[in-house]
Amino acid sequence: MTVSTAERQAMIRARELGAAVLGTTSPNPPVGAVILAPDGTPVGEGATAPPGGPHAEITALAQAGGRARGGTVVVTLEPCAHTGRTGPCADALLAAGVARVVVAVPEPTELADGGADRLRAAGVDVEVGVERDEAEAGALAAWLTGVREHRPFVVWKVAATLDGRVAAADGSSRWITGEAARAAVHQLRATCDAVVVGSGTAVVDDPQLTVRDVAGGLAGRQPLRVVVDRRGRLPATARVLDDAAPTHVSRADTPADLLAELFDRNVRRLLLEGGPTLAAAFLREGLVDEVVVHLAPTLLGAGPPLVGDLGISTISDALSLATIEVTPLGGDVQLRLRPTRHTGARQSADRRS
Ligand code: ZN
Repeated sequence: MTVSTAERQAMIRARELGAAVLGTTSPNPPVGAVILAPDGTPVGEGATAPPGGPHAEITALAQAGGRARGGTVVVTLEPCAHTGRTGPCADALLAAGVARVVVAVPEPTELADGGADRLRAAGVDVEVGVERDEAEAGALAAWLTGVREHRPFVVWKVAATLDGRVAAADGSSRWITGEAARAAVHQLRATCDAVVVGSGTAVVDDPQLTVRDVAGGLAGRQPLRVVVDRRGRLPATARVLDDAAPTHVSRADTPADLLAELFDRNVRRLLLEGGPTLAAAFLREGLVDEVVVHLAPTLLGAGPPLVGDLGISTISDALSLATIEVTPLGGDVQLRLRPTRHTGARQSADRRS
């Protein structure tokens, strides 16, 4: 595989463009595309628009205009070959006269694949699999989980003290973390299609679960707010039921049932915000894909732990996580982790496909 330095730089930029629209494209993939003129100069870029809008390649082509002719398209996902609401991108690339297409991830769905073949058949030079791992671990991760497992990608977020407490012994939990960490939570919610809490959290903490901008105003796009409330405990006065954003109250019995319900509502990336019992249920089923912990440099010595019973009784069964990123947030620390080995409970659990 021969890939130029300009193409590698364009691929990094394409991943950034895709990441910037994470949370706005579901059920479509957040793709980024960059067009290079024949001399390697970037002349156009684009990212997937919200559903019904143009795909990344189309926006990038429009920006490049005639400078795309004989040039190279660098894109995080194989250009589509199916006629959806926007027409196949492979045909648009051919019409624009591009000479080469560099792709990170091959199209995994039968509906849209065949783009690379169509381009090659027309004489375009196509490279597939360039920096594929990086692209799959980035903005496309949630969408790929949807394609492969027919369920949303689950990010579990929790704020805790240094000794892993999410509240004090009297139940008070306001402002465990500082302002920077709370702002980061709003940014994280903005990258998700839905935010989920259990009825316990909804009743005790009464969160609004909205996305707010730095000035404190409601953001233009709000994820679906979801309360898991099997026993009908949620009072009609709960803030999560206000008109600031759409809300879904679920009676689902298991995490897998909840995920199936939300997948049908086009949720591809879900933020699980607690509490310890709901988080434990997801972890026991092996249904957490990423963990974001906001750790405050305080000690409580008592109070509920950040996760409930995982059914683990011996150290060799511990659930292991790999640290992806460590970021200081004001006086707090953000850890991003991915489970690497699940508990014994997971192997015996019934998992739906
Ligand atoms: Zn397309």
